Amino acid sequence: MTSDAVLRLRRGHDRARVHPWIFKGDVADVPRTEPGGAVTVIDSIGRFVGRGLFNPRPGLCCRIVTWEDEPLDDALWRARMARAVERRAGRTGATRLVWSEADGLPGVVVDRYGPVAVLQCLTLGMARRRAALVRALRDAIGDVAVLAADEPAAAALEGFTALAGWVDEPRGPDSVVVDEGPARFLVRLGVGHKTGLYLDQTDNRLRVAGLAAGRTVLDAFAYTAGFACQALVAGAARAVCIESSKEALAGAVDNLALNGAIDRAEVRDANAFDALRALERANARFGLIVLDPPPFARTRTAVAGALRGYKEINLRAARLLEPGGILATFSCSFHVTASAFEAVVADAATDAGVRLALLDQLGQSADHPSLLTVPETRYLKGLLLQAR
Ligand code: SAH
Repeated sequence: MTSDAVLRLRRGHDRARVHPWIFKGDVADVPRTEPGGAVTVIDSIGRFVGRGLFNPRPGLCCRIVTWEDEPLDDALWRARMARAVERRAGRTGATRLVWSEADGLPGVVVDRYGPVAVLQCLTLGMARRRAALVRALRDAIGDVAVLAADEPAAAALEGFTALAGWVDEPRGPDSVVVDEGPARFLVRLGVGHKTGLYLDQTDNRLRVAGLAAGRTVLDAFAYTAGFACQALVAGAARAVCIESSKEALAGAVDNLALNGAIDRAEVRDANAFDALRALERANARFGLIVLDPPPFARTRTAVAGALRGYKEINLRAARLLEPGGILATFSCSFHVTASAFEAVVADAATDAGVRLALLDQLGQSADHPSLLTVPETRYLKGLLLQAR
């Protein structure tokens, strides 16, 4: 064993053999190491389990990086980064290159936007290894400009200062234009949600656009109008976008213009709950509705409230569908299961008196792979439905 600090698991707490997360309650002996340091994880009778990064502060105190007896060193970061990039070979346009646990780099997210890579460190251990991760990333994809965009909430939980900005030279541009299939999106780096775009919805935007020709579109919770742009580029007649964030609204206008679709679109600054109600009162009808709200349930305890929220928006959307109309409805709340989401949408359709055919079940884009044994890597679910 190459690491001196040892974390011994309690008897019966050996979930760590398939799931990389170790909680404080799983730990028998706390390792003597600095926060963010590497530890060797052993089971209750001393057998090697894996090696991970430890932080005494959060409840989730250790994430296993390897189940082999190997050091957590630059060679390992390079190998993991190269493998993650290789998994996305052939994918063009803006792409998630590293998806945390699913790529063997727990606490690391990397999204590529043309000449720029946006790096999020979500744990103290990874934040302390940022320079090595950047070197490994450049080994894998060449000399990109790297923008740090840590999540403040994660950083606060883990006890480090969230970094935002270019990590070193070369610095990148303020904005880039990226392709997504036939559409183009302007990404203002360091501004907006996630790392710039909701790349987890890329494959779904293209899929839904394939059904959009000739239809009038309602893109609710539109962010920078990704679904509306793709639908309009694919021949949709008109689109109404509803969004409540000022930055996102400005981005929506930019993207609609960039795709030559601004004349066929309307961007409304509104609370989507109110806007859906108002559209219903006005007897509006749409041929394609996209509901892509933020995570209504960020914790397990918020699930009941979240389900009420999903019920309400899906009920209104079902009433706004014209005959033969399509509804693409999503939940990105990990704590709301696919079956609970499906049940609430079915309930909404029942109340609306609308018979919905299930055309498909949707998930995260292929560059956001998930691990069966780590359900947390799989959070986005969608239903593609058609009114009969
Ligand atoms: N469909 C988008 C991503 C949507 S993310 C895409 O493909 O890019 C969810 C969006 O909902 C965010 O932009 C957020 O600002 C917006 N939002 C959150 N609450 C809202 C509300 N009550 N009304 C309108 N928009 C809301």
